[in-house]
Amino acid sequence: MHSRMLNWNTDCIDCMAIFNCELCYECIDCEDCYGCAFSESSKNCSDSYFLRDCIGCSNCIGCTNLRNKRYWIFNEPHSRADYERYRGALDFGSHAALSHAKEAFEALFAAEPRPEMEAANVENSSGNYIRNSRNALSCFQVANVEDCKYCDHLTNARSCMDVSFFGVSETNELLYECEAVGHGTFRVMFSKLIWGGGRDIAYSYECFASNQLFGSSGLKRKQFCILNKQYSEAGYHELKARIIEHMKDTGEWGEFFPMTMSPFSYNESLAGDLMPLTKDEVLARGLKWQPQPKPQKSKLHELPDNIAETPDASAGLPLVCETSGQRYRIERQELLFHRKLGLALPRLCPEERTRRRFAKIALPADKQRKCSDCSNSFTTAFDPVRHPKVVCSKCYEKYVD
Ligand SMILES: [Zn+2]
Repeated sequence: MHSRMLNWNTDCIDCMAIFNCELCYECIDCEDCYGCAFSESSKNCSDSYFLRDCIGCSNCIGCTNLRNKRYWIFNEPHSRADYERYRGALDFGSHAALSHAKEAFEALFAAEPRPEMEAANVENSSGNYIRNSRNALSCFQVANVEDCKYCDHLTNARSCMDVSFFGVSETNELLYECEAVGHGTFRVMFSKLIWGGGRDIAYSYECFASNQLFGSSGLKRKQFCILNKQYSEAGYHELKARIIEHMKDTGEWGEFFPMTMSPFSYNESLAGDLMPLTKDEVLARGLKWQPQPKPQKSKLHELPDNIAETPDASAGLPLVCETSGQRYRIERQELLFHRKLGLALPRLCPEERTRRRFAKIALPADKQRKCSDCSNSFTTAFDPVRHPKVVCSKCYEKYVD
């Protein structure tokens, strides 16, 4: 719930780009984690809070760059009894106490360097958040990909370029300029929402388990269709070749559908989160802009400070975001989740929470930077304003404990 870019997770809320996690809250770029909250870029960790770049850790609080540690607090080892005493004194169920803790841990994170690239088990790759991949160039949030370039949020793919989302099960191969394509697709171009073994498809939308389609939409288990009309195999190939020749003359062949065709406003789409533009910049490109509702000036209802004192009746009440002034509400499922984890309910609307998570991640663009500790140069996704300290992979090793 209230999350973006998830794969194979259970019972997680307010997370972004996590894989195979369970009972996690406010986690970003984590994999195989259980019962973690407010953690980033960590793998195989459990029952921990405020971790960053940690692997194989459990029962840790406020730690960065640790490997296989237990009962560590602020990057210092403790006995189990000391850890439990400290954890018991931290009442994350209280909004006031949790806000105070967040400030302290965020100051700790800000002082720590980021590695030039967040990646695990990769070869000859660039971009960020890459796992188990080789020759993944300028890729973001990809896993199990090979020979891919300019792809994001893609798993299980080979020889793909300019693909956004999703791949997932089975291998997906030879995709070009696609969005939301996966589950065993092959040779798909300039298309969106194609899955279920789709092959040899171009300029199509929302077609499933189909082959040999051109300019079609909403088809299931079809083949040799152009503009949704059924042709013989020979007729299909002959007409398709003529249309491509015409599109080459008009300059339309070889490009994805223009952004001006999108029914969505730029500032309500993922593009607006990943590559923010001002209203004037959006309108100048001929794109749509969604005006925001007027902020609410006064509070409508007040939540008790502590989740332990929050009654069932709080679910569904209209609340006002402390930052944006937008109205929002807590769902019953959310209230139960926060009770289970003993974490205070959010005082920000889901959109503001998402905006803050985006502000923490590296956005998909390569920047040339110099290591903060030595003279090495490298391309990195971490921009100098949000992430002032970035070190090369060699220097990063000395920060890992
Ligand atoms: Zn260095």
